[in-house]
Amino acid sequence: MFRRLILVLFLFVVYPAFTSGQVRVRLFSLQSPESAVFSVTKGKYEVNAFNNETLIVTKGELVIITRYNDKLAVKTRNADGFLCDSVIFTGKTDEDSFSLRINGKSPVRQSYSGDLQCLPDLGTLVLINSCDVEEYIAGVVKAEGGTGKNKEYFKTQAVIARTYMYKYFDKHSADRYNVCDNTHCQAYNGLSSDTLINRAAMETQGLVILAPDSSLIISAFHSNCGGATSSSEDVWLTSQPYLRSVVDPYCLSSGNAVWEKSLSLKDWLVFMKKSGFNGSTDDPSVFSFLQRSRVTDYRTGSFTIPLRTIRTEMNLRSAFFSVVPEGDSIILKGKGYGHGVGLCQEGAMAMATKGFNYRQIIDFYYFGVLISDIKNAVIIKNE
Ligand SMILES: [Zn+2]
Ligand SMILES: [Zn+2]
Repeated sequence: MFRRLILVLFLFVVYPAFTSGQVRVRLFSLQSPESAVFSVTKGKYEVNAFNNETLIVTKGELVIITRYNDKLAVKTRNADGFLCDSVIFTGKTDEDSFSLRINGKSPVRQSYSGDLQCLPDLGTLVLINSCDVEEYIAGVVKAEGGTGKNKEYFKTQAVIARTYMYKYFDKHSADRYNVCDNTHCQAYNGLSSDTLINRAAMETQGLVILAPDSSLIISAFHSNCGGATSSSEDVWLTSQPYLRSVVDPYCLSSGNAVWEKSLSLKDWLVFMKKSGFNGSTDDPSVFSFLQRSRVTDYRTGSFTIPLRTIRTEMNLRSAFFSVVPEGDSIILKGKGYGHGVGLCQEGAMAMATKGFNYRQIIDFYYFGVLISDIKNAVIIKNE
């Protein structure tokens, strides 16, 4: 009874934020903008600066916002400029969109929909866009989805991106927004103009991936697993029942399936000694190591080191590699690109091309999960 009460309480607390269908995204979060040029590309915007003045701007009109100490200077072409604490642009039709150009000379100019709030904070101009969740998801798929051209692949990516967004919806709540637009959350470079991606987002509207306990999964993905994905505990130390190693026959002929890196035997010895190896180095063949299926550690004699440590230290494409001594060199022969946990993007693309649908693709890479509407997710706070 008590458990049920807690569950109801969680749903009560968290559910309203999700059902609004809106997400608050901080734009240009890595660029520290000093100024922004707001320009209406569709519809009509009301500009409100809490100073009893309301401006209306329509298509083609520009508003320049510049941080001025701890205030904002706002200027339009046809009205006097003014100083304010913050300014909000509210779309007045059902189809409003705008573009933003930051810091004057910056070539970056991206298109957004929904409303925009601008406020000065810690020496920068904070730009927060409230937009429709599904338009945001399509933009994320465009930015993160890779180069696939198949709708089932894009639907897979849309469900993954939506799951990730809701799972970390509170990540920035102390800063008055939900997500930032860089890879700290998910890359978002504005609206997608790709109709296939937009349709993929709409056709999977509201769908997320749930673990057997109805919580949102950690929807990890990577570029190419090299033929076998990694179990999460081998990479991040925490085990998840749905992030198990699977043998993946689909990505083997894709672009990132194999790689090779050569380094001098001397550099390899320096690295090994630094890592604690104190055995004999007279015969380089002792470093020989074959990784046919994924293992967690590199092993020579009684010395072991996690492969993920070598990957990080040497900036390798993956931890799925063999070590081949060759004369004065050490050749690292690797497979795949990325951490290897969860969905393999190039494998998923190949599956979609072979005719698998997004549900089959998700089931293949995430073990024992359910694809369901976000309203069925149980959100556990402070997870
Ligand atoms: Zn973030
Ligand atoms: Zn793969």
